[in-house]
Parts: sequence; structure tokens; C-alpha cells
Amino acid sequence: MRIVMIGTGYVGLVSGACFADFGHDVVCVDKDEAKIALLESGGVPIYEPGLEQLVATNVAEGRLSFTTDLTGPVGAADVVFIGVGTPARRGDGHADLSYVYAAAREIGAALRGFTVVVTKSTVPVGTGDEVERIIRGVNPGAQFAVASNPEFLREGAAIEDFKRPDRIVVGVEDESARQVLEEVYRPLYLNRSPVLFTARRTSELIKYAANAFLAMKITFINEIADLCEAVSADVQDVSRGIGLDNRIGTKFLHAGPGYGGSCFPKDTLALVKTAQSYGSPVRLIETTAAINDDRKRAMAGRVIAAVGGSVQGRTIGLLGLTFKPNTDDMRDAPSIDIVRGLISAGARIRAYDPEGMEAARAMLPEVTYVDNAYAVADGAAAVVLVTEWNQFRALDLSRLRERMASPVLVDLRNVYHADEAERAGFYHVGIGRPLRPVEQARAAE
Ligand code: NAD
Repeated sequence: MRIVMIGTGYVGLVSGACFADFGHDVVCVDKDEAKIALLESGGVPIYEPGLEQLVATNVAEGRLSFTTDLTGPVGAADVVFIGVGTPARRGDGHADLSYVYAAAREIGAALRGFTVVVTKSTVPVGTGDEVERIIRGVNPGAQFAVASNPEFLREGAAIEDFKRPDRIVVGVEDESARQVLEEVYRPLYLNRSPVLFTARRTSELIKYAANAFLAMKITFINEIADLCEAVSADVQDVSRGIGLDNRIGTKFLHAGPGYGGSCFPKDTLALVKTAQSYGSPVRLIETTAAINDDRKRAMAGRVIAAVGGSVQGRTIGLLGLTFKPNTDDMRDAPSIDIVRGLISAGARIRAYDPEGMEAARAMLPEVTYVDNAYAVADGAAAVVLVTEWNQFRALDLSRLRERMASPVLVDLRNVYHADEAERAGFYHVGIGRPLRPVEQARAAE
């Protein structure tokens, strides 16, 4: 199959490279000239494990190429995927579809022969109908079908997720589009990955319902973590105790600083807005989003409390900035609220992240970026573990503590046991853990 991928970001580049690896001919298109130049010179604009090698192999074998001009490739394509961004629209939180519609207009003008146009971007119900109208308006004689194929990959495990997905969802309104997409995903049929064909609108909604459910699950355990602190119970044991029930499952039950990233915050908001505009509100998700926003803002307060009530003029060290490990993505990361909250309370911030510092520098210029985990501790009143990168899981805690002004470890991912942190001389604050004697004493002061 000849495939064109419009938008060469996290989703477009991973999907394009994986489709090429399945044996299809793939052209990835992006408006961003610097991104395409970098890809053409053998570089990869994002950090995603295994991606650089996958791209290099498929470029070398002649199945994957890059361009800023979609005209020729779209004219020759069997399938055109739209994988451009759908951020939250400023002001009202609806999904901003301007990039999708702009891509649809350009595709419409370039179509030649029967082509299936597929939205891979996360788009609200009815977007496929509008894409169809736009293409028809631009090119009334075009032969095409519009399908929906939402992407479920997780950053940090994107290639594995794409090649061995839990399921593939495809929304179609006609048989010819179904046949083409069956052909595109044939290699995964052989792996027995379930492919669910639905109506187009249903497929669009499945993506939002999935992300909203996962966001709700995280928020649920975060609230249970708060309750654990109040009643002296341990949230990790609660997670295990409920997660071993197959109806619940163990995934997405890790308490932490609140969800972030490029998908959950904007997708929950967009679902809320869609539901409201159809007069069928999703109140659970409205509440989920509100609780999560409050939680991310409250994390700075947790740090301030851990150092005795004030960070004015004091240094706080942050371990990790990206919204999760194994990505350089900083979009809506909890670290952003934590840094801003601490700085507005008078703190100086030192931070280290294995892959996210370049993106973080643009968003958080006030931070002093250092080049290793231990250097965040220099003169710090507390070190806060924000993102659970593997390299932060076995730190030499004594070495960390020796560099600090006061030995406080705020462990927002429960990476360390309080016992081991205390043995290294730390006052350890986790999430959803029973208060330790030293904390009880502090609370009683
Ligand atoms: P991104 O911002 O990383 O990439 C989008 C790319 O599209 C950019 O490089 C941009 O320059 C390009 N672009 C915009 N308009 C264009 C046009 N008209 N022609 C060519 N290129 C254009 O976005 P992303 O994170 O890859 O997300 C893309 C979509 O996939 C979103 O709808 C997102 O919600 C969804 N999604 C993302 C993830 C994820 O983990 N990032 C997972 C599943 C679904």
C-alpha cells in the first residue's frame, strides 16, 4: 500500500515508521521544515526508545521518506492518514480542529484516483463528517472515503504498542474503506491483534471514552491515596488489593502527582465540551478533570509543608520533569505546576531530567538545569522525585543527602520505601502512605 502520513509528530512519525516496517511505502509529511530537514539528515526530532533505529532501517530500505509538500505523494496514495495535533482550543477547551481541517483542504486539492482519508488524530465525534464535507467542497469530483482510526500508543512504549496493540479500532462508513484498512493492518491480523470495525462516529468516541476512563482510574487512586494518608493506610497495598480483582485490573492504579501529558488533560476536556454541547454531560469526567487540576497545583504545597512551611529563598531540587519516563514530552506535565508554585512561593529550582530538559528550558526558563541527578541536591532544602525514570530508582541516597542543606525527600511516585530513605538519614514524604512517627510529630507541632 502507498501510505501518506500528514503530521510527523509523536503519532505520525511512529505510525509512519511502523507502517513502513510492515512493508508499506510511506511518505511522512510535515509543515515544519526544520523537522523534515532533521529527518532527512538521519536525525529524529523526538525521544522515543527504538525510533531512531526503526526510521533509519526503513529509510535505508527505501520504504520511508519525508517531505514538506504533500501534493505528489497524496496524488499517488492509496491511503492518507491525518496525524496532526488537536490541542485544546484556547479559551473554551474544545479540541482545536484547525490543523485537521487545514490538512483536509490540502488533501482534497491533491487527491487523484480512489483514496481513503483516515483521521488518526484524536478528534471529536462528527469530525469525519466535516472532513468529508471539506474534501467534497474543495474537489467535488474526487473519489474518496473518510475513515476513523484512533491511535492508542503510549509515549515511551510507542513502537511496541503500535506493533502489538491491545486492539485496533477502525470506523468506516463504506465497504471499500474497510477493505483498504484491512490491507493496511494485515500484518497485525497475522499477530492476531483484534481489529474492531465500527461506524465512524462510534470509533471517534471510543478514543475519548478510553482516555477519559484511564484518567478517571488515576484520579480515583489519587483520591484514595489522600484518604490513606488521613486514615493511616497504604495506597500501594490498596492498589494491589483492588487491582488483583480482574474486573478492576492492576494498571493505572499508581498514585502520584496527577496525570499530565499531551493526551489526558486535553482529551478529558474535549469530551466534557462535546458532551455538554450535545446536552448529555459526563459529570464523572468533569469532576475528574477538576480534581486533577487541583491536585497538580497542590503538589507545590506538599513540598512546602515538607520543609516546614516556607521555601522563601531556599533551593528545591527536582528529579524528572517530563510527564512520564521514556519521553521528552513536557506537555501539561505536573512538573510545570510544581515549578511555578514553588517559584511563586520564593524558591529557587534546580532540576535534572534525562531527556526533557531541552523542551523544559523553553517552558520554564527560571529553573537551573544540571547535568546529573545528584547535582539537583546541591544546597537543597528538599529533593522532589517528580518523574520515575529508571535511573532515579536506585540512587545512592546517602550521597544525595550529603549535598543537601536539609535531608527531605518528597517522593511523588513512591519509588523509595520510607525505611530505606530514613536509613540514609532522610525525612521521606511519599504519597498515600501511613504517616511515619517523625511526620506524626511534625503534624502535632
Ligand atoms: P505533535 O504536535 O507531536 O505533531 C503534530 C505534527 O503535525 C507537528 O509536527 C505539526 O508540524 C504537524 N502539522 C500540523 N498541521 C499540519 C499540516 N497541515 N500538514 C502537515 N503537518 C502538519 O502531535 P502528536 O502528539 O503526534 O499528536 C497528534 C494527534 O494524535 C493528536 O490528535 C493527539 O491527540 C493524538 N494522539 C497522540 C498520542 C501521543 O501519545 N502523543 C497518542 C494517541 C493519540
